[in-house]
Amino acid sequence: MKKTIADLRSAFIAGTSTPVKAIEAALAVIKEQDGEIHAFLDVYDDVVEAAEAATALYKEKGNDTPPLLGIPVALKSNILIKGKRVTAGSKILEKYTAVYDATIVKRLREAGAIFIGATNMDEFAMGGSTENSAFGPTRNPVDTARVPGGSSGGSAAAVAMGAVPVAIGTDTGGSIRQPASFCGLVGFKPTYGAVSRYGLIAMGSSLDQAGPLTNSVTDAELVHNVMAGADPMDATTITEDTYSEVPLKETYTFGVPRHFMADGVDEEVLQAFDAHIELLRAAGHTIVDIELPLFEQGLAAYYIVMPAEVSSNLARFDGIRYGLSAEADNLLGVYEKSRAEGFGKEVKRRILLGTYVLSSGYYDAYYGKAELVRTMMRRELAETFKKVDIILTPTAPTPAFKLGEKEDPLAMYRQDIFTVPVNLTGVPTLSFPMGTVEQEGKQLPVGIQYIGPLGGDKRLFSIGKKVYDTR
Ligand code: GLN
Repeated sequence: MKKTIADLRSAFIAGTSTPVKAIEAALAVIKEQDGEIHAFLDVYDDVVEAAEAATALYKEKGNDTPPLLGIPVALKSNILIKGKRVTAGSKILEKYTAVYDATIVKRLREAGAIFIGATNMDEFAMGGSTENSAFGPTRNPVDTARVPGGSSGGSAAAVAMGAVPVAIGTDTGGSIRQPASFCGLVGFKPTYGAVSRYGLIAMGSSLDQAGPLTNSVTDAELVHNVMAGADPMDATTITEDTYSEVPLKETYTFGVPRHFMADGVDEEVLQAFDAHIELLRAAGHTIVDIELPLFEQGLAAYYIVMPAEVSSNLARFDGIRYGLSAEADNLLGVYEKSRAEGFGKEVKRRILLGTYVLSSGYYDAYYGKAELVRTMMRRELAETFKKVDIILTPTAPTPAFKLGEKEDPLAMYRQDIFTVPVNLTGVPTLSFPMGTVEQEGKQLPVGIQYIGPLGGDKRLFSIGKKVYDTR
């Protein structure tokens, strides 16, 4: 049985367990399983001391302690934590040590969390299976022949194998939600700007948000609340009154964009989705069909906007400022060789694509158009949220696929059909398991997405707790 933060904390307060025992248990799980799963790139050696201090504090103060005191937390390896190696899953940062804490790390630390290690990921968060890591893939604890999803696959696997009750991921186009779906977890992508990006290694700055992967919605809310809030170090963070109040209700109107699920979605995933809708109806909610024609353009727009931002963000990895530096006769040679040796295939593909769509002859035709589509998608969504409270889609069109199954990059990109429109429009989305589908004798989890209006994060937690945590 996988533990929640809530379970652990009450055991710590009651004295039936201690942070030292929890950390020892986490390390034992990692020792036993991570040889095969490979969720972690690094496991830190200073955790027992931190756990001893937390144990002493519980003895002294019990309930009157910070909300995450002594809770083991895993961090995706693109989140800066001072004095520790942070790789972004890339050879170019293989030996890079962070010199400061990300704002979210600082806040989690203040709340008492114990960082147990850094988790594996697709290189620079580009991918949907964790197979693009320069350090080898992660396997799905549910079925080790399958991927855990990505790019936060290491974080998802760390929670799914029972090492930690929470791991932090980042989501640029689905990288928290899709691994949550593949591994049977809760994953949350906040409203853009709700969580500071200061100290996250950027992929697409207008799309990136950090969020939790957990075993319950209650835990996801707790961890999100610790991390969230305006930050002077990130000018894109929002405040309480950036968006108008999104009221909580007893029953909601859910919109279902059926047309959007017509192609390429597994039959069993649709059956699980329909069963979930019946459950909502039985609980008194209203379900209506909606049209979101522009959402179908989301994938195309994302695979223009995202590489454009990637090409710009990754320009800083030049062999001089961070990480790997190749020897060459002159400065240009250092740039070229360091990048050629340091970046993997997918990263190079996206830098090329991004540079192309931003070049003067193609900017208007590609980047400009994609940004226009994005603006129109936002309007379409704003109109839709006048009629419905929450939009529902499956999180991913399939359950976890097998390692090596999606070698064609376009096949991999199609996995993102339901997740990328959310990042393009900035809205919050909660993913949690809606059931399992059977494949080759194994029960594989599949997730559902509850998409809320801008600033509607609380609404998603409130309904998510009712539907999922009390199931
Ligand atoms: N799978 C998507 C991509 O490859 C999403 C990645 C992410 O959210 N970091 O771009």
